[in-house]
Amino acid sequence: MAKYKHIVVPKDGKPIQVRNKKLSVPAHPIIPVIEGDGIGRDIMKATRRVVDAAVEKAYKGKKKIAWMDIYAGEKANELYGEWMPQETFDAIKKYIVALKGPLTTPVGGGFRSLNVTLRQVLNLYACVRPVRWFKGVGSPVVHPEKLNVVIFRENTEDVYSGIEWKKGTKEAKKVISWLNKTMKTKIRSDSGLGVKPISVTGTKRLVRKAIQYAIDKKLPSVTLVHKGNIMKYTEGAFRDWGYKLATSEFRSKIVTEDELWDKYKGKMPKGRILIKDRIADSIFQQVLTRPDEYSVLATPNLNGDYLSDACAAQVGGLGMAPGANIGDYIGLFEATHGTAPKYADKDVINPGSVILSACMMLDYMGWDKAAQMIEKSIQKTIDKKTVTYDLHRQMKGAKKVGTSEFATQMIKNM
Ligand code: NAP
Repeated sequence: MAKYKHIVVPKDGKPIQVRNKKLSVPAHPIIPVIEGDGIGRDIMKATRRVVDAAVEKAYKGKKKIAWMDIYAGEKANELYGEWMPQETFDAIKKYIVALKGPLTTPVGGGFRSLNVTLRQVLNLYACVRPVRWFKGVGSPVVHPEKLNVVIFRENTEDVYSGIEWKKGTKEAKKVISWLNKTMKTKIRSDSGLGVKPISVTGTKRLVRKAIQYAIDKKLPSVTLVHKGNIMKYTEGAFRDWGYKLATSEFRSKIVTEDELWDKYKGKMPKGRILIKDRIADSIFQQVLTRPDEYSVLATPNLNGDYLSDACAAQVGGLGMAPGANIGDYIGLFEATHGTAPKYADKDVINPGSVILSACMMLDYMGWDKAAQMIEKSIQKTIDKKTVTYDLHRQMKGAKKVGTSEFATQMIKNM
């Protein structure tokens, strides 16, 4: 058993392992949890209670999660004097599947985003965000039920790769001077600079995961989202490499949009997945005007970040927006939203997004019975109109409850 400085390994659990390229999940798996900053403290408590109750009910006590606290953000700084201790990375690598609350990131200075660091260091290259409407939840659109998408956002490259130079620094001056002299560019000397790398490797592994997901879940299409008309060699290349991967690795399972019209007269052959692409600005209006034409969306990092929040807003807000960061095996499950500091420790915020992220985690572990139980109970709790403030302000005749009470109601409704 690994020795840690502050992490206490539960005695009653066993690690999840990878065997024959698959996860092997024991009956009492050890699941590391980062509680998170701000509202993380409220939502994670509620989530653990709901997950434990669902697992207990689904498997009649034969399965149980052994939660193991690991640390990042403010709590890590208190304990270790650093925001992201090495043993947090080590624990996630060893135990493979983990749950995470939101972490604070200062804007325009201070340290780099802990979230981005976690994704890059652990090579969690796909950020997976399903967005669907729960019946009864208020929404700014007339037909929220028509949106049911899963966003696969590339997680390690693009303008998020952290290669930036501040205006006026030695480095910024050096790069600007090299570009202007050697590449004949005309960059103003008072510019800050950032680099946007998008690689064949990063694109292919992301698009491969998105298509495989569509195959496994029997979904109708995968759309490559890009701004390739302007950024030709990064976002345009993302599109081209995505199509290339689809036609070389999944030839018998897919049809491209061009082929649909050239070969099949616009009628989709049975059992195939349609691969199409849309320009980023267009997809933002398409998800509003023709949402039911989209299913899986594969995007570079920045587009995917914007698109996930926009889609979440369309189905009732960030309180119901789950997510996962997935690599070849490691899965780190977390909500789309941040630490919402003004609501921290007030027991008011919606725990739905982390609860639904935990649902994705259970599904990833093959514990789909418990996952389905949670999804049904969240719908039942909304049907009964007992909801947190965010859903309450959009629903007529609903009763407003706090974070912990929402979890209690969910457990009752299982
Ligand atoms: P935020 O924490 O996501 O909150 C923005 C707003 O979204 C809240 O004021 C609230 O809106 C709504 N919201 C968020 N979570 C909700 C929930 N569980 N239930 C209901 N409504 C919810 O965004 P932010 O204020 O821009 O960011 C705060 C900090 O979080 C920053 O340091 C940021 O870097 C960090 N962050 C971390 C992550 C992560 O850890 N993955 C992700 C994003 C941001 P109303 O006030 O209208 O109710």
